[in-house]
Amino acid sequence: MRKMNIYLFLALGFVIIFFIGLLWYSQGVVILHYHAVNNDQASEELIRVTPEDFDWQMNHLKKWGYHVVSLQQAVKYLKDGKPLPRKAVAITFDDGYEDNFGEAFPLLRKYAYPATIFMVTGQVGGQNSWDKGRVPRKKMLNWDQIKWMETNGISFQAHTVHHLNLTKIPVKQVQYEISASQDALERHLTNHVNFLAYPYGSINPDVVQIAKKEFEAAFSSSPGAAVYGNTDLFKIRRMSVKEMHSGAWGHWLFVMELRLSWLIALIEDFKISLGNISYSIQSNFNNCLMPFSLDQTLFGRVQDKRW
Ligand SMILES: [Zn+2]
Repeated sequence: MRKMNIYLFLALGFVIIFFIGLLWYSQGVVILHYHAVNNDQASEELIRVTPEDFDWQMNHLKKWGYHVVSLQQAVKYLKDGKPLPRKAVAITFDDGYEDNFGEAFPLLRKYAYPATIFMVTGQVGGQNSWDKGRVPRKKMLNWDQIKWMETNGISFQAHTVHHLNLTKIPVKQVQYEISASQDALERHLTNHVNFLAYPYGSINPDVVQIAKKEFEAAFSSSPGAAVYGNTDLFKIRRMSVKEMHSGAWGHWLFVMELRLSWLIALIEDFKISLGNISYSIQSNFNNCLMPFSLDQTLFGRVQDKRW
């Protein structure tokens, strides 16, 4: 009987924690993370959505009562807790492909949604040369297009100069990649460039440290909703939307990910906490008892705390 009571007590505790978690996380903002928007059937690209799918997704937000806020509003909420409307979503694009002007921009205007483009400034008017041999060549936005979009509700923020993996280059070069991209945008545009998206979502402690000196917030590619009080402003989560979100199944996946993004964030945080606990237990164990050090934690890659 006593054993039964303990199980009941544990089950009740679990349910309470689950609902507190649900309430807390579901107040967050989902930041959508796009790249290219085009209909180029010849090129098979993981990071592309078609204009039809993009239209469907924007329409879904409208139909189901989501409130599209600017990235500035989203960061204000994450930083100071300034309340957002219910079911808040922000829209971002990485790299700055020319199709963002020809395909995505007219649809954003149709729904009157604000959006942010993280621009690779070394390739304005050029091509995605950093992807050479991996994905097809694509044209990038030029300054005229960028300026026109900026005066019509699109914010431009930094995505470095050359789109290099910042964890694989010397610290001095990281500093250049980050601040020169910020300078270029501020020279040409009127908006303040205070956000950064890390190329490939790759970070380490040095990269974050440098980003903190120049920016107010920075964005990763980790999935899930971003929630006030539980979000590192220099590792803000985004929900990646790509080719797998095409067609009937893709639309279903988009809807599910959007609705359950609070749960995805909760699971991701739980995995990181477990990894960190395991790492700290193992480090202590290694330091105290082991004459040699183990390279792997129980959860492998989590040792790097998502750098
Ligand atoms: Zn990128």
